[in-house]
Amino acid sequence: VAELLQKSNVAIQRAKNDKHTFQVYDPVFDQNAIERLFLTNNLRTAIEENQLTLFYQPKLSLKTMEISHVEALVRWQHPEKGLIPPDSFISIAEKTGQMDALTRWVTQTAVDQYLKWLANGIKINIAINISAENILDKSYPDYVIALKNKHQLDDCAITLEVTEDAVVDDPTKATEVLNYLNKSGFKLSIDDYGTGYSSLAQLKQLPVQELKIDRSFVQYLLENENDKIIVRSTIKLAHSMGLTVVAEGIEDEETLLWLKSQNCELAQGYFISKPLPAHEFEAWLSQSKYQ
Ligand code: C2E
Ligand code: CA
Ligand code: CA
Ligand code: CA
Repeated sequence: VAELLQKSNVAIQRAKNDKHTFQVYDPVFDQNAIERLFLTNNLRTAIEENQLTLFYQPKLSLKTMEISHVEALVRWQHPEKGLIPPDSFISIAEKTGQMDALTRWVTQTAVDQYLKWLANGIKINIAINISAENILDKSYPDYVIALKNKHQLDDCAITLEVTEDAVVDDPTKATEVLNYLNKSGFKLSIDDYGTGYSSLAQLKQLPVQELKIDRSFVQYLLENENDKIIVRSTIKLAHSMGLTVVAEGIEDEETLLWLKSQNCELAQGYFISKPLPAHEFEAWLSQSKYQ
């Protein structure tokens, strides 16, 4: 037992007020628990005090070799901890019922940015990531539709990226809500395609226009024959269903050219650009060979 405890990093202590009771103390568990509590409480403050910020990552049209789309990716500029990536707090926001507030903030900020760019002659579609919670009822959809109407946004202004799991939880409800969004002029995209359990046949029932192939299939496809086969056939199937295809996680030119040869419509990845703050994205775009 002693050996096991040593290995597992767990300590047994005498309880403070009771000499006959022992407590199990796991420092790893404790640290995570404290960290999560800290993040939960502070995430509310972060939203209220405008500590969140959006980075923008371009999507390159492989037909025209122009930047026509951009994806908004949230970061948390924490006063003490610095820039916190979304993977560290999105799941906490989901578990603590804060996705509605967070997605509304992201949407409002992305729409403001879209309008700013439009006023400066940059017409670019902005993609927003939404969570399962955002399509459980019509609360968020009503919000984003009202925003679109208020600013008289074009139908091709905003893409909403939804992951497969958001749909798998409650397919009937999700289909209804996605239909509602689609009829209201939003482009819908299935994110991280291939990592969930849904088949293309199931996705066919959904009113989506775009499929984003997950970067785990794209990143090493030139060295991995299986990945190549998966990506090639996914593109073909998606096209036969009338969907456009985005490949994410492109880190070199050879992969980009291979995807172009497969008629993949849009490409995204570090090879083109990392996600950048709005002003850096503008600077990047103005001197980019992809105008
Ligand atoms: P995602 O939607 O699949 O976004 C793509 C992620 O891959 C981004 O990470 C991006 O920086 C990264 N990436 C892009 N190109 C490459 C590449 O060539 N190589 C590699 N290795 N990585 C690349 P990020 O920004 O850290 O976001 C992580 C995830 O957090 C996103 O995955 C998305 O699921 C979630 N997320 C980000 N912003 C939001 C948001 O506003 N709302 C919601 N609900 N989720 C968000
Ligand atoms: Ca995404
Ligand atoms: Ca993705
Ligand atoms: Ca992802």
